[in-house]
Amino acid sequence: MASQLTQIFQTVDTDIRQAAKCLRDGGLIAFPTETVYGLGANAIDDTAIAMIYDAKGRPKFNPLIVHFASLSELKAHVDWNNAAEDLAQAFWPGPLTLVLQKNVDSPISPLVSAGLDTLAVRLPAHPLAQQFLKAAGVPVAAPSANRSGKMSPTSAAHVHAGLQGRIAGILDGGDCKVGLESTILDLSTGSANLLRHGGVPLEDIEALLGREVGKTQTVPQQIKAPGQLASHYAPRAKLRLNAADVSTGECYLGFGQMECDLNLSSSGDLIEAAANLFRHLHALDAFYPKPIAVAPIPNTGLGRAINDRLRRAAAPRPTS
Ligand code: AMP
Ligand code: MG
Repeated sequence: MASQLTQIFQTVDTDIRQAAKCLRDGGLIAFPTETVYGLGANAIDDTAIAMIYDAKGRPKFNPLIVHFASLSELKAHVDWNNAAEDLAQAFWPGPLTLVLQKNVDSPISPLVSAGLDTLAVRLPAHPLAQQFLKAAGVPVAAPSANRSGKMSPTSAAHVHAGLQGRIAGILDGGDCKVGLESTILDLSTGSANLLRHGGVPLEDIEALLGREVGKTQTVPQQIKAPGQLASHYAPRAKLRLNAADVSTGECYLGFGQMECDLNLSSSGDLIEAAANLFRHLHALDAFYPKPIAVAPIPNTGLGRAINDRLRRAAAPRPTS
């Protein structure tokens, strides 16, 4: 990826507004939360979300947590329920992430939840994060602001060391307090399931809900984070990968200059291809039972994450 100047923004109004505008316009901005520094992008901008994966060098499209400035904005994107309301009243703003069904009309990029129909959401407590999110005026998707496989950053200097030249800016809010990631609780199924331990202790959640929380994250078949599932985002249609050309009766998902039904990126740009991936798969799946032939995607940079997801989508799956 082309190197860019990474601007450092300070905790003054003009800087916060400038950083927020840059994010709204598609730039990546790292910002402090009470857990760790997040690498923020406008959650409704497919390309900005693809750039997160590129900047981090992530080999897989793990779903991202979306951060909001207010509960009313957050509720507009998910299927809210009573347990969520109780937990929100008790622990938000704070280091708790809730996974809920995503509203069908939410404009959040499908790449944010890696093709899942659920969304992980949170209201952070850090005052600077709140100011920044409010100024941004859009939902902000943010994984930890480190290169993939490295330690989560708890200071602007950590972020700079790992991502300098790869992101538009860093909002410097000093050291993070918790230094531990958010607790992730899945409420999308009607019961509560712990997906990750974090800043809000499990005991406090169970005390509030008045019941035990499932801990199925240790049971591989039931893991909700799709990285672990063999066939996760599966269109109904059969996928044929590395298809140099299309056969009669197939739809053709292209890459680079070619004749096809839909093109991930006619200029061969992997960030554009990642941004289009889930949208295009959905669109071609509408022609089910027509199989989908997918042109070869180079296995470099973001191409690795695209190929990983395509392989999962093409994997044999249980019939139900
Ligand atoms: P990080 O990117 O380090 O903040 O980690 C985000 C975590 O949230 C990962 O473990 C994801 O798998 C998890 N996550 C995000 N969205 C979802 C979702 N819709 N369902 C389940 N887990 C999710
Ligand atoms: Mg992380």
